[in-house]
Amino acid sequence: MFELRFHGRGGQGAVMAAQTLAEAAVIEGNYAVAFPFFGAERRGAPVLAFARIDSKKIFSKTQVYVPDCVVVLDDSLLDTIDVVSGIKPEGSVVINSKEEPDEIDLGKELRTGAIDATSVALEILKAPITNTAILGALARVTGIVKIESIEEAVKTRFGERLGARVGERNALAARIAYEKTVIGISKGIKKLETKKQWLPSYQELPVGGALIEGRTEAGLIGPGSFIENKVSGWATFRPVRDKAKCTMCLLCWFYCPEGTIVRISDRGDLMTNYDYCKGCGVCENECPVDAIKMVRGRV
Ligand code: SF4
Ligand code: SF4
Repeated sequence: MFELRFHGRGGQGAVMAAQTLAEAAVIEGNYAVAFPFFGAERRGAPVLAFARIDSKKIFSKTQVYVPDCVVVLDDSLLDTIDVVSGIKPEGSVVINSKEEPDEIDLGKELRTGAIDATSVALEILKAPITNTAILGALARVTGIVKIESIEEAVKTRFGERLGARVGERNALAARIAYEKTVIGISKGIKKLETKKQWLPSYQELPVGGALIEGRTEAGLIGPGSFIENKVSGWATFRPVRDKAKCTMCLLCWFYCPEGTIVRISDRGDLMTNYDYCKGCGVCENECPVDAIKMVRGRV
């Protein structure tokens, strides 16, 4: 089985690339699956997609952790994500980059095909949607599918959705990228640290609850719950915090699903609003210094 992981950003078409690749593999008589994983779902946020190709039926439904090939639609992801995590030593990388493979530092020396897919897409499609260009490069680097099958799958998939002319243009982008892809070995120098830059850390979130109050048709909502809906009556246990042990790491505040642990900025302290504490014990579980104990009884 040949397994691939696609790294892109929302709006770049990583999911469509994985699905189109799967269709190209099916055209050649193989079995194939493709599926996405979305994190923070918004345009520009990192997106993952996966594909598997085999001559036999595929039953695995997990994400791809040990890929044969990694496809990177946006090389700015290299600053924040270890895109080659878990890749097989003999695996290959296909990357949208203006640089030559031996200038691209992936933290590992890997067979790498580089294509300036953004320029190809801008020239042919007049939009920076790089998924079809990257598929052409993928066919060249891996040989897992023929470029003709990619072209056919692209024309079908894009043509059905966006019209025959768009399908033709995207197939042309794939073909040009196939011909222009430069193959070499990446640099393996830098130590990559996975860092979710698009999300604030919990220390950076504003003082107070994690969510703000607001009115909906159903009523007034506050952090985690309806303000009118005081849940303390449900609780068999309540959390009690030992201030002497507490290091103010804020993990309990961050994880409380009811947003009932409140930060008090002027005292640098925390307060639990027991009206909305349902006694779930998440805070006790998350506290790294055992400063919270769940005790029997209501306030
Ligand atoms: S017990 Fe649950 S609801 Fe109550 S403060 Fe802890 S995490 Fe929040
Ligand atoms: S998780 Fe524990 S140490 Fe961290 S702020 Fe809460 S009670 Fe204090």
